[in-house]
Amino acid sequence: MRTERLFDNDPYLKQFEAEVLEVLPYEGKYGVVLDRTAFYPEGGGQPSDSGCLDDTTVLKVIEKDGEILHIVDKHFGVKTIKGSIDWARRFDLMQQHTGQHILSACFEELFGGSTDSFHMGKDISSIEINIVSFSVNDAEYLENKANAIIYRNLPITVRVVSGEELPNLPLRKMPKVTENIRIINIKDVDCSPCGGTHVKATGEVGMIKIKNWEKCKGGIRFTFVCGGRALGDYRLYNSIIRTLGEKLSVKDINIEEAVNKMLNDFKNTEKRLLLSARELIKLEAENIIEKYPADGGIRLVSRIFDNRNINDVKLLAQYLTQVPNTVALLACRNESAQAIFSRSEDVSIDMDSIFKAAIHIIDGKGGGNSRAAQGGGRTEGLDDFIKAAEEMLMK
Ligand SMILES: [Zn+2]
Repeated sequence: MRTERLFDNDPYLKQFEAEVLEVLPYEGKYGVVLDRTAFYPEGGGQPSDSGCLDDTTVLKVIEKDGEILHIVDKHFGVKTIKGSIDWARRFDLMQQHTGQHILSACFEELFGGSTDSFHMGKDISSIEINIVSFSVNDAEYLENKANAIIYRNLPITVRVVSGEELPNLPLRKMPKVTENIRIINIKDVDCSPCGGTHVKATGEVGMIKIKNWEKCKGGIRFTFVCGGRALGDYRLYNSIIRTLGEKLSVKDINIEEAVNKMLNDFKNTEKRLLLSARELIKLEAENIIEKYPADGGIRLVSRIFDNRNINDVKLLAQYLTQVPNTVALLACRNESAQAIFSRSEDVSIDMDSIFKAAIHIIDGKGGGNSRAAQGGGRTEGLDDFIKAAEEMLMK
């Protein structure tokens, strides 16, 4: 590699000077190769740094064919540049990454679970651990252990070792590379190979909080936050809880009880409303029936309702057709059209065949059986659809 990796020896370096060695085309943009850089290229679960080369924004940094490419969207002519990395972003990534080492060591020590993979996202990081089960108590136990390591502010050192030295080291995992093997050592806690950037003492991780976990292929995937992210997370949740408490006029500790009571009240109210709605629809059906003469002929009730719930209309059809000699052709015009054709038991007309013979008028579909059929289609032509069904019935 032509580029000296300044971040390897000094992850706290924020600004540097370097020579532009070459500018390569890269996916419609440019990849700047420098003789030295403080920009970490993405890899090993850690995203790349962002920042500037002079006043040009570095979009991302990648390692490709043995070169570190600083991706920019304008061509670079100058030979000497000043680079500066986005330190807030880098420090955040260092907190998450070092936190992951501490977590991995704790999972290993407390649960015998090895780390299968690690991913650092924009807001949250995740880690896959090779264990089969995990409980809320386990999470507290693990968090206490991990945060105790932070409180002890243990030194974190980096050194490059040769392959021959490896068997003598208490490694948590074996390195993937065979030369320039970087060993990250957290005093008394963890010793593992890694090419990323880390803080110099565990205290700088600030805090580790497990967010959640779920089963994944062959293990459990945990999401977690460290340092500034944990503070941001706490701030967000605290604000949500405070707002909820204010809305419910209760102390935060009583929110759960208040919400449970509210849900219960809501369910009871909903039940009462449903009963009232049924009563009203029953009355509506009785009113409709009263208006038809009881002369022994078939009562044909055909109605189109605007903006009405189809379930209410179905219930109305049910009540109507409990009365002998009744056929109901009911529809509602909402965003789309829905219809139900139904008859009382004593009428011998096939509702399904009438429904299917007319439904093409609204480009719809649906069906049922001899007693009742339902479906939906366009609202345009709904009147013609009902009219056509009426005419078929008359025959
Ligand atoms: Zn690392």
